[in-house]
Amino acid sequence: MVTRQDCIKLDEQDVLAACRDKFTLPEGEIYLDGNSLGAMPSHVPARMQEVIAKEWAQGLIRSWNDANWIDLPQRVAAKVARLVGAGKHEVMVADSTSVNLYKALVAAVRMNPGRKVILTERGNFPTDLYIAQGVAEIFGLEIRYVESTAEAVLAGLDDSVGVVMLTHVNYRSGQIYPMAEITAKAHAVGALALWDLAHSAGAVEVDLNAAKADMAIGCGYKYLNGGPGAPAFVFVADRHHQQMRQPLSGWHGHVRPFEFVLNYEAAPGIESMQCGTPPLLSMLALESALEVFDGVEMLALRQKSVALTELFIKLVDEKLQAWDFGLASPRDAAVRGSQVSLTHAQGYAIVQALIARGITGDFRMPNILRFGFTPLYVGFADVYDTVQAIAEIMESQEWNQEKFLTKKAVT
Ligand SMILES: *Cc1c(COP(=O)(O)O)cnc(C)c1O
Repeated sequence: MVTRQDCIKLDEQDVLAACRDKFTLPEGEIYLDGNSLGAMPSHVPARMQEVIAKEWAQGLIRSWNDANWIDLPQRVAAKVARLVGAGKHEVMVADSTSVNLYKALVAAVRMNPGRKVILTERGNFPTDLYIAQGVAEIFGLEIRYVESTAEAVLAGLDDSVGVVMLTHVNYRSGQIYPMAEITAKAHAVGALALWDLAHSAGAVEVDLNAAKADMAIGCGYKYLNGGPGAPAFVFVADRHHQQMRQPLSGWHGHVRPFEFVLNYEAAPGIESMQCGTPPLLSMLALESALEVFDGVEMLALRQKSVALTELFIKLVDEKLQAWDFGLASPRDAAVRGSQVSLTHAQGYAIVQALIARGITGDFRMPNILRFGFTPLYVGFADVYDTVQAIAEIMESQEWNQEKFLTKKAVT
């Protein structure tokens, strides 16, 4: 049996333990929802204060030059690129994840004319499916939905497929799709591979170029801790920069935006993935937040993430036997992202009871209790305390109260 003392020892040996102090969390809170909204790096408010008082209030329009706002998307992109195995000229930070998906998917579809199918899995995140449906409607394409396994995706790839679009780490189960293998099969049948890194970037080792990925997108406010609604990123491999044409041909993607000419002419390279004026305050917050990754190796992050999720599963096996919990995430750590999902018929109320105790996870329909383990600020004793709390909530039937059973608007 794993004891709390064992977990405290693991915390003492943890090479990333000091990173916890870079974040501000409510006193006593165990935060296991960094996969929905990352915690706030403690230095960000002071930076934002400076941005608002100096760059906005005093610098005004001059800050585009004086504070280098004009280069901000590229600066932030360079930081993101390191975390996902991309060259810094292959990543742009702009817009939201959904909008970037739209731009990338249309660009990919246009690069593969004649192909009628967008391939994805039915368990993909809703916005990904909805955006694909919108693109399919405009271009008269068909979406092929396969079951949520790597085998089904590989089997679904044939020479009718123009683009395979997948979320690398499934948001519900935490299952990791084999990026290199699926991309290779896509290329073999003449398709492009587009990866959503929403649950990967900042948590799982990703090497887009080693996997020969064609395009990717990802989220700024989850494991990258960029703040609520932070801008997202988009990756397009160098080799496609000549041909790619994204549909939102706004002036920031123009080759010479400040010449104010009549006709659109796309900027060369990844610059053309921009559309309009970025949300500067949010992007400056994201830039500042990304400093917590300075000096952190993704391998060390992944190793701790695996150790945390392994410990959680072990403790669930040991302590929650008596109640009907199921494991909705892979047992094999090699194909599991930085989260563990459990199933239980009373999942919603159990999560609410946990939140009332200061332990925040989330609930996903129909019966998933989802726990995200952000290696930068979650420790091993936190994992112990979480499973212990679930055991107590079950033992005492604490979950079985009106206030926990009633669903809120955001779960
Ligand atoms: C969180 C998430 C998104 C978010 O998209 P927004 O445009 O930021 O709302 C998209 N895709 C996946 C897979 C996600 O997990």
